[in-house]
Amino acid sequence: MKLSTIPLAVRTTCPYCGVGCGVTATAQPDGSLAIAGDEKHEANRGRLCVKGAALGETLGLDGRLLQPALRERGQLRDASWDEALDRVAAGFARAVAQHGPDSVALYVSGQMLTEDYYVANKLMKGYIGSANIDTNSRLCMSSSVAGHKRAFGEDIVPGCYEDFELADMVVLAGSNAAWCHPTLFQRLVRARELRPQMKIVVIDPRRTATVELADMHLPIKPGSDAWLFNGLLCHLARQGRADRDFIAAHTEGLDEALAAAQDTCGDLHAVARACRVDPALLLAFYDAFAATAKVVTAYSQGINQSSSGTDKVNSIINCHLLTGRIGKPGMGPFSLTGQPNAMGGREVGGLANMLAAHMELEDPTQRAAVQAFWDSPRIAHQPGLKAVDLFRAVEEGRIKALWIIATNPVVSLPDADQARRALAKCELVVVSDIVAGTDTNAYADVLLPALGWGEKDGTVTNSERRISRQRSFLPAPGAARADWQVLCQVAQRMGFGGLDYQSVHEIFDEHARLSAWRNEGATARVFRLDGLAGMSRRDYDELEPIQWPVTHGEDGKPRGAARLFGDGRFARPSGRARLVPVTPRGPANLPGGDYPLVLNTGRVRDQWHTMTRTGKSPRLAGHVPEPFIDMHPQDALLCGVREGELARVMSDWGEMVARVAHGGGIARGSLFVPIHWSGQTAADARVGAVVNPVVDPLSGEPEFKHTPVRVEPFGVA
Ligand code: SF4
Repeated sequence: MKLSTIPLAVRTTCPYCGVGCGVTATAQPDGSLAIAGDEKHEANRGRLCVKGAALGETLGLDGRLLQPALRERGQLRDASWDEALDRVAAGFARAVAQHGPDSVALYVSGQMLTEDYYVANKLMKGYIGSANIDTNSRLCMSSSVAGHKRAFGEDIVPGCYEDFELADMVVLAGSNAAWCHPTLFQRLVRARELRPQMKIVVIDPRRTATVELADMHLPIKPGSDAWLFNGLLCHLARQGRADRDFIAAHTEGLDEALAAAQDTCGDLHAVARACRVDPALLLAFYDAFAATAKVVTAYSQGINQSSSGTDKVNSIINCHLLTGRIGKPGMGPFSLTGQPNAMGGREVGGLANMLAAHMELEDPTQRAAVQAFWDSPRIAHQPGLKAVDLFRAVEEGRIKALWIIATNPVVSLPDADQARRALAKCELVVVSDIVAGTDTNAYADVLLPALGWGEKDGTVTNSERRISRQRSFLPAPGAARADWQVLCQVAQRMGFGGLDYQSVHEIFDEHARLSAWRNEGATARVFRLDGLAGMSRRDYDELEPIQWPVTHGEDGKPRGAARLFGDGRFARPSGRARLVPVTPRGPANLPGGDYPLVLNTGRVRDQWHTMTRTGKSPRLAGHVPEPFIDMHPQDALLCGVREGELARVMSDWGEMVARVAHGGGIARGSLFVPIHWSGQTAADARVGAVVNPVVDPLSGEPEFKHTPVRVEPFGVA
């Protein structure tokens, strides 16, 4: 593609996973674009995975949504921005006037930049007056958020990527980091090459690419993680590994947590049976963890996407609190986020139960502080609907107008056919996207063209709390506009006065100042950007990646923090961390009867979400060219299907079709199906249609890793 107008070289950030790699995009003499890893970015130090390296191949305008469109008499027609914005504003205003603020909702995304996210959250909570704004990040890391808040008092990842290199043992629980967080995994493997005493342990029911490079693999029964970590807690206590000084000075709840663990997991052989692992292997892991001071336990969707995900997170954190292994170099629990700005969304209150700047919606003092800062006419008084409940409310007619931004719920939600039914019934469906023809767009009454990577401008925050600039270097295609501009233009048409920003810099500055805002009586918070408040436009443009909390250094420059809690001070009112009692619970729906197999879902190495961008690169498509059902050959035989044949996966909620594969990493009784493919393939390959919609009661995160299913040859009625 010809990119003759772009600046010579731009430092920006990859738009895919939560590692948040720095990228340099350099215009070539022939007008093409060279993509490379940014040597100066601490997240990746010059590395890129294959998805990041292929970014230049995904920027063409084929399939882009370039013009607003309105549905009339069942057909979409091109429209002007004025027509489209008027329709959105009028539809939202009418629903609010007739049915109240909770009759409208926003469903947003960890793909959005922090500035876009901030404006969306402010519009809904501070002006419309409802907290019915939730995000697709609900589907990937909300259990970690809830677990952090229970243990630390605030949603905080205590450590940094460097800890993976400094540790003597890195435990990866429910994480296929080799495929899902590749450059971080490369750093880890390189560190082990330099220090062979370092060990990598993987806890995963599947034999993944990550397992291939591990020193130890515990192939646990799906869903049994909390038994394993509760058993570890008991073992550490029995072995005298508790850090008594740290516990006495900086924690509470040890006795209750130990008692709960002891009840169910005090006996190693009972834990081994519950986890379906060899007791000798389990003991070897427990002994190695006990004997190694510098341990990082990193966890991802295999832990979070569970009906007891929050408890699983706390069972991990408990082991680190018991041993005082937190906030110090090379040790700590670490939540690996899936999306590029899952963390930034948390900062601005993108979840339905949070307010901007990590303040709590249900805390009247913090609520008043945010409203006073915004000088807004109202503020939502109660948590809004979380993703799965939100789409139920749409189907039930309680939500009349829904605005979806940068996500494709008809593919990605659990029970995805329910999302279809909901959107088909909704009075007004607005979709902002960069792509014209997603499964979700088929249900839009209003389509709004958005800016993509390289076109939009703002910040993202990665898994280690590092804020980086995503810079624009391409012109806006067609009539596409930034999400923040569109949100402001709708707000103005609805008569709201506090959303008239002129630039992303202005929004970021307000976000930074809000994080520093204290009202009398407001609890001190860790999430603070004091050192970035009041930045000039130029400083914002030139902002170097920096980890929050950001204070003013002695030289007057912003100073970030690599680790938190090293001083033993936590964000809870007592100043102490809490060990949370965990009683392990199995998955909500168990296999048996008509559905004897367990479906697990996840990513493949070279695709991202519903493939609207990575699907454009032939190089990326070459890795896994089509959807598949990975199953054990003996299970396939029993189901009457063979490798390479099309088969149907069916559950109580829906069905999908793909080809059978024998990847070799699957135990008897389980399947693995990737999340990326849509209903636009020859046969419907949306695995979301099969996934049960049961959620964790605390976090609202769905149980994507465990749905009872059966498999039949395709074509059998
Ligand atoms: Fe880095 Fe993740 Fe992008 Fe790969 S996908 S380049 S690991 S941010």
